[in-house]
Amino acid sequence: MSSLAFTVLFISFLLISLVVRFWLASRHIRHILVNRATVPAQFAGQISLEAHQKAADYSIAKTKFALFIVLLNAAVLIGFTLMGGLQWLASASFSVFGDGWRYQLGLVLAFALISGLIELPFDYFRQFVLEARFGFNRMSPALFFTDLFKSTVLSLALGLSLVWVTLILMEKSGDLWWLYAWVLWCAFQMLMLVLVPLFIAPMFNKFKPLEDESLRTRIENLMQRIGFASSGLFVMDGSRRSAHGNAYFSGFGAAKRIVFFDTLLERLAPHEIEAVLAHELGHFKLKHIVKRIAVMFASSLVLLALLGYLKSQTWFYTGLGVEPMMGASNDAMALILFALILPVFAFLLSPLTSLSSRKHEFEADAFAAQYTNSQDLVSALVKLYEDNASTLTPDPLHSAFYDSHPPASVRINKLLAI
Ligand SMILES: [Zn+2]
Repeated sequence: MSSLAFTVLFISFLLISLVVRFWLASRHIRHILVNRATVPAQFAGQISLEAHQKAADYSIAKTKFALFIVLLNAAVLIGFTLMGGLQWLASASFSVFGDGWRYQLGLVLAFALISGLIELPFDYFRQFVLEARFGFNRMSPALFFTDLFKSTVLSLALGLSLVWVTLILMEKSGDLWWLYAWVLWCAFQMLMLVLVPLFIAPMFNKFKPLEDESLRTRIENLMQRIGFASSGLFVMDGSRRSAHGNAYFSGFGAAKRIVFFDTLLERLAPHEIEAVLAHELGHFKLKHIVKRIAVMFASSLVLLALLGYLKSQTWFYTGLGVEPMMGASNDAMALILFALILPVFAFLLSPLTSLSSRKHEFEADAFAAQYTNSQDLVSALVKLYEDNASTLTPDPLHSAFYDSHPPASVRINKLLAI
């Protein structure tokens, strides 16, 4: 491929993704506005007009903000690539460190820090303006910056070590480096599955064993019926940061734990909590989590093999505004470019991921209906939708493209039909 052809391909994919994103967002906003005046008949009596309109306004505000971020990201992407940002950073790092691994790590570090600094004001805005306006923010600026500090240190420690070992493999392990890098990457992911619940999540939140005796007994009965062993039931202080409620499931093997946000426990009745948990356990029992990990591993193998090919193609660099140093320390640049442009080329595949995720949601709902009362899951879902101000009337196409969960009405109709 010629360098110009690759530039044209890249720009075309970027433009297509922008057009599709704007088109879907405008459909979504229009659909929500058309349905803003009345609560959908299915939810009348359960959700007030005020809550329905709050959800509409919140969804529209989030969609508009997301569009702004899309434009910003596109500008940053062009700035780093075709406008010469990365080339400039590479020259700067080279003039400081000379050829070698210091130069490569310097480039990765500078790129990561600059990207992080660009995102920072928008993250702050999301939390303290957008979320706050709808009453969801419970974070103080001090907590925001403490979180930022901790997560920066963590990602530097973990991310840079992973990149460093990858760079060594790229340089020293021959043509099949991408296969070794894949093994390394998979091992890292598995390690994180254990490290996150045991060490990393507790750096950000407090986890207390679930104390409520009657709820415990109820949940232990459910786990026994399903045949599920867990090494603990925990309550997390999600209310420190946000009013949004959730329950999740983390770890694997002997380190499996069930985590409830305190905000969820406050809001749902015990039988509703049981139904929500049955849904989560459904994901586990139906092997959704294992399947998701398998897909992730398989696709990363394909992507690393692709990078193995692209890394030695001059047009891959020059087409993206970078003068490669073939035969010298060029691998960090290949990694950064690949990570930058991958989302652009993969964007049109997102409906596939959403489709498979929604299929899993329906299956987990059916599983919950089998082991608990489906009415309980329905009333829990209605409360969660209301509390999270998720719109009840998303544009169907927008939802099909992006949403990992089916729209509330579709989900509830299916549950009621069971
Ligand atoms: Zn689910």
